[in-house]
Amino acid sequence: MDIKQIYMDADALLHGHFKLSSGNHSEYYLQSAKVLEDPKTAAILAKELAKQIRESGLDVDTICSPAIGGLIAGFALASALECRYIFTERVDGKMTLRRGFTVEPGEKILICEDIITTGGSAMEAAAEVERLGARVVGFAALANRGFCKREGSDLGRKPNCKLPKNLPLFALADFDFEMYSPDECPLCKSGSEAIKPGSRGN
Ligand code: ZN
Repeated sequence: MDIKQIYMDADALLHGHFKLSSGNHSEYYLQSAKVLEDPKTAAILAKELAKQIRESGLDVDTICSPAIGGLIAGFALASALECRYIFTERVDGKMTLRRGFTVEPGEKILICEDIITTGGSAMEAAAEVERLGARVVGFAALANRGFCKREGSDLGRKPNCKLPKNLPLFALADFDFEMYSPDECPLCKSGSEAIKPGSRGN
């Protein structure tokens, strides 16, 4: 399965000259939600991710996603794995389990995002379900931005990855494109101007 092509076809992997939320510039931009706007594509990607998780032998009771980014990917993955699905959301900035969701002591939870960058939100969701007594057994995402090490990839872990080293990260592909500080950006040097995706109100 050519994950990058699926993202390209869905206009979820943009090529150009972009200003990222970190302030850095990049030739590529991932608009993760776009790849999931077709439920059939979402199901295909989730099925592939579920296959990796099953083949690893990891025992999972429940998928939990941090809202909003992880909601659709997590639900699709739970459908493919035929397991329970819950999500956490921010209340006054704090990641919280609400809406009547509970977890059992020792319940084995896989945290699922659409894309793992450094894993910050995933770790906040993990801390919340563990505070309530569950056990986080791993992490999953459709795409890995290249900071964390995913199962089966040769690409190493970068110092800013927040995920624990002793738990697996399952993802379909590494999207480890280069980022440049604005004063070192070769695209800026060639005279083009960086645009901020989403600047049209989306
Ligand atoms: Zn630039």
